[in-house]
Parts: sequence; structure tokens; C-alpha cells
Amino acid sequence: MSPDGILDRAEEIAAGAELSSHRPAINCSGTILNTGLGRARLPKAAVQAMRAVAESHSSLEIDLVTGKRGDRQGPLSELLIELTGAEDSYVVNNNAGAVLLAISTFASGRSVLLSRGQSVEIGGAFRMPDVVRAAGARLIDVGCTNKTKISDYSDAIEDDTNVLLRCHPSNFRVTGFVEEPIPSDLAAISQKLRLTMIDDIGSGCLYDTAAFGLPHEPTLSEAVKTGADVITASGDKLLGGPQAGIILGKKKAIARIRKNPLARALRVDKITAAGLEATLRLYANGEFERVPTYWALSRPLESVEEMAKRLLSEVGAAGEVADGKCEVGGGSLPGVSLPSKRVSFKSDDVEKLARRMLSAAVPVIGYVAKGKFWLDIRTVDEQDFPALVHELRRALK
Ligand SMILES: *Cc1c(COP(=O)(O)O)cnc(C)c1O
Repeated sequence: MSPDGILDRAEEIAAGAELSSHRPAINCSGTILNTGLGRARLPKAAVQAMRAVAESHSSLEIDLVTGKRGDRQGPLSELLIELTGAEDSYVVNNNAGAVLLAISTFASGRSVLLSRGQSVEIGGAFRMPDVVRAAGARLIDVGCTNKTKISDYSDAIEDDTNVLLRCHPSNFRVTGFVEEPIPSDLAAISQKLRLTMIDDIGSGCLYDTAAFGLPHEPTLSEAVKTGADVITASGDKLLGGPQAGIILGKKKAIARIRKNPLARALRVDKITAAGLEATLRLYANGEFERVPTYWALSRPLESVEEMAKRLLSEVGAAGEVADGKCEVGGGSLPGVSLPSKRVSFKSDDVEKLARRMLSAAVPVIGYVAKGKFWLDIRTVDEQDFPALVHELRRALK
């Protein structure tokens, strides 16, 4: 190693030594909801609310009018009912927990109908058949991998069947000779067969993704309208809030979920409850752009390009601005992307450049391709910008 190399390495180690392993990072990966980078970046209002209750005692379960014991779910339910038209809600730690809790409540010791085309793995070993088993239920496969018809459900039902489960294909696509009933037809057959329909819609969206030229992702209110008894979704995907599992449903169904002992094991904590409430309030007030996930999705390409050019000029090193594609990620909208702009830098050793950016005080996550180091700019905001310039100057010198 050259003296310069040794110095650089020493600087990197010194910079990293005092830092927590949980550090703010700059996402230039080309994926908006990057699970490895903690999915959604939170709205400022959510961060303030979370910080305020974190460093203090809080009014989590105190009714501030009567002084009596209140319900931590109350304020969240009020907002979720207003925003989605659901009758009631219950919020837990994440959507995986929400699915487990819902199946356990309605199908423990009984059986669950699930289309073979929806018998999927979400990631991190979260596989629908395993979740059904872990909830104490038995899975009945319905239809085929590529085709499931409504009549397949009535044909597959057994004496002990109590749940019709639907899982939104959020992270994969099947094309060609394919058929799946639409959710409202499933809700109708579920009612006719006297089953409880649980609809895991994956990403809990509160706006129309088609507005950004993306395919339409089911919104929470659409899912409520289709008539499922229970709907589950994530808080930190397209909704853009903290990690949480949002359960919506009919009053009677939610009442049963609340009584399940697992509900207490999975319930939302005070910090998440405060952050989710603040995020939902932004939607209720029509302040969508203050939700960073929505901001990144709706950001005009000209704004991305302007920042990419400004980055190059401020870094003062040779690089190029090129067209790019930014994925939504986080198991939402697979195989589609938004137009973006990216900046590339050449180096004698691009792998080393990428490593230096990764080990920076504020890690910068880009990627190496075609012998260059690339940074996608769609997810970079003005708050990230000075640190990004600083780290690039340092790594390129
Ligand atoms: C992402 C996802 C889950 C898991 O949600 P988490 O909030 O990550 O626990 C479950 N089901 C579907 C369909 C998903 O897309």
C-alpha cells in the first residue's frame, strides 16, 4: 500500500470508529424504498413527533379530557377511518405481524383458502404457507399457479374452512396465460361461502401511483370498498411512514382481532404510533409532498437533472450526467421504474471508490456498473446535498 493509501485507510478507520452502526446514509441506489436502507424516509413532522415522545413520558394511553386510561389505537383509528372509509383499525409492528395476527384470529385450528398463484414469498423467509402454519391454521391450495377461477374456491372449501386469504402480488409478475379473480369477486364469493376474507394488499397506498406514470397500486380505500372483512398493509412502503402493520376492517372483525393475545404481543409502540399519526395527518391535510416517499415519486425529472448538474459542478471532478431509471422497491410495483438522472465517475479503481463512499461518515450508497461508479439522484434531497458533495470530494481526491 502506498503512503497515500495507508493515510486514506487510517482516515477511514478513524472516521468509522466512533460512529454507530446505525448511521444516516444517502440513498443513490436507484431504488426509492430500499429495504436495505430502511425503506421509507420519514416526514419531518413524523420525526418531530417521534422524538418528542421518545425523550419524554407521553399521553399514549391517557384520555386527556377525563384523565382516565385511554386507548393507544384511538387517534390512529380516527385518522385511518377518515382516510380509508374503514369501520375500524388496529395497528401492529409490521405487515408480516398483521397477516399473522389476522390469520391466527380467524383460522387457528381451521383451514384457509389461498390461490396457488398467491402462495408467495415476500422476502426474509416470509412465505405465505409458513405464515398460515405459524398461525395454527391449515392451508388449502386453490387453483393453479397461473390460473385460479372463482369456482375453484367453492370447489376447494372443506368443513373446517373459515378464511379466504388474498395476497397482493407485490414483488413479482406473472404474464401470459394467467387469470386471478378481482378482489371484489373474491369478497362476494367469500360472503356467499360464509368465510372471513383477509386481503393482504402489501403496500398501503393513499394516492394513485398512476399519476406518476406507474401502474396503479391498490389504495387502502379501494381495498376497503371491495368488501374484504380484514385488510392488512405496511406503514413504511408507499404510505411513507414508520415501519408498522395497518389492519383495517369491519367493526366486528377488528373487535375479534383486539381480543387475540397475539395482538398484545404485536402492538405498535409509542414512538411508531406518534410517527404514523403524524404521517397520516399530513395526508388528511392534503400535504402529500411533505411525505418524502411521495416527494421522490412525484419529483419532476427537471429537478433531478438540475441537481445532478449542480452536483458535478460543486464536486469539481470529471463526471457525467446520464439518463437513469429509479425503481420503487420495498416489494412495490415490480419491474417498473421512473425516469431519473444519474451521475457517473470514473476512477482507476472504481470498486475502491465505491468502498470509500460506503465507509464515509455519511455512507453514500451508489453502484458500480460498466467500469464506473453511479449515483442516482432522484432520492437525493437538499438536506443530503452538502454531505454528498463533501463525501464525493473526499473520495475522489
Ligand atoms: C411487504 C409485504 C408484506 C410484509 O410487510 P412488512 O411490513 O415488511 O412486514 C406482507 N405482504 C405483502 C403482500 C407485502 O408486499
